[in-house]
Amino acid sequence: MIHQETPSTPLPERARQVIPGGVNSGQRNVPGLSDLVITRAAGARFWDADGREYTDYHAAFGPPLLGHADAEVDVAVAEAARSLDLCGVGVTEGEVVLAETLTELIPSFERVLLTSTGSEATFHALRVARAATGRRLVVKFQGCYHGWHDSVSLNVISTPDRVGRHDPISTGILPEVLDATLVLRFNDVAAVRETFARHGADIAAVIVEPVPHNVGCLLPDQEFLTALREECTSHGSVLVFDEVITGVRHGLGGWQQISGITPDLTTMGKAIANGYPIGALGGRADLMDLFSSRPGAPVFFAGTYNGHPAVVAAALATLDKLRREPVHEHVFRLGDRARTELAALYRELAVPAVVTGYGSVFVTYFMTGLPKSYDDLLANDTGMFVGYRRRLLEHGIFELPLNLKRSHFSYAHTDDDVDRLLTATEAAVRAQLADPATDVSGASTMAGAVRC
Ligand code: PMP
Repeated sequence: MIHQETPSTPLPERARQVIPGGVNSGQRNVPGLSDLVITRAAGARFWDADGREYTDYHAAFGPPLLGHADAEVDVAVAEAARSLDLCGVGVTEGEVVLAETLTELIPSFERVLLTSTGSEATFHALRVARAATGRRLVVKFQGCYHGWHDSVSLNVISTPDRVGRHDPISTGILPEVLDATLVLRFNDVAAVRETFARHGADIAAVIVEPVPHNVGCLLPDQEFLTALREECTSHGSVLVFDEVITGVRHGLGGWQQISGITPDLTTMGKAIANGYPIGALGGRADLMDLFSSRPGAPVFFAGTYNGHPAVVAAALATLDKLRREPVHEHVFRLGDRARTELAALYRELAVPAVVTGYGSVFVTYFMTGLPKSYDDLLANDTGMFVGYRRRLLEHGIFELPLNLKRSHFSYAHTDDDVDRLLTATEAAVRAQLADPATDVSGASTMAGAVRC
């Protein structure tokens, strides 16, 4: 049946009639913003259909490190669109240059394959780890998100009663798949050592966000990452750093360069192409050479859009600009400024708060003490976290009003933006303190699945 609507029906309502929930990702349905229609984005801003302007700190969960619609990326994409769309056979020059660039930049990359999303990259990382080791188990950490596929779709934002046991974020996953994933506490060296002592011979892979940014920001202890490296090496397990957020955004060599810990495999995405759909999986040649892009190799790998010319052009233009211009210097400086001045503001307001983050990423938790693992974050005052962000919208500031979400600076943000952020935060927090009642239902996405 062809569905016809009168043009006068508001777009969000039309959306809800034909798109479940009216949005194309479970992460886009935000309480209080169900009628949000975005019409334009440029630099550090976006605009909605009612003409409201927002300074964007959500940044689509992280890709636009250069800012929205970066002129150089746009030109590269437009040129690619004019000259080459997609052929699906052989290789293009852009793919070769991008692979060469990434292997030059990322310490663990001896070989690299492109995907269209981060989830595909983490999926293939776990598949090849199981294929290479012939083992069943995967280890992940509470609070980390690695995409939507079954082996890792558990224990991201868990309610207190579900921490310490399997907490799938979706129904429809085979219990035997969930059983093959062990969930440990982030930064807990003893738990890692004990788990390897008990199950080491069955562990195919350990997958970790080296900085768990899907719950804001948990900074890793160096000894924790070292322990992961040591245990994986001594037990023949594959260490996967999921650098979909940290890669490129925190430095061109990812967190592995910052920490000096080299994983066996690395997954990337998001900021590599400044907003165009990309993922990458790279690492040790002996593992990567198991993929069926090599004739006769046993681990099936395919994807119609892998290495799409427009996306590859976006990635090359992005990486080129990141290497040429002081992008990291700029976003790190704004991040440091925001963290320092926000912390001073909360002290002045006598609001218990921890302002943390790294580089361009910042987040304020309403609790005391620097969190080390997800269970520490259970102390965060969700009403305050979500409530002041809802009030920030009234000041044209968009920090995603969902529990534990991080905020980002881009190259397009300025010191004036930081000034405005500080002024608006003060007003929003004061208003929240004066009227703290906040309905937080639906404000924790990636929480355990609702049981029917
Ligand atoms: N890994 C991490 C660390 C992520 O943050 C995400 C996305 N938020 C993914 C994997 C999945 O990437 P995508 O949404 O592109 O599939």
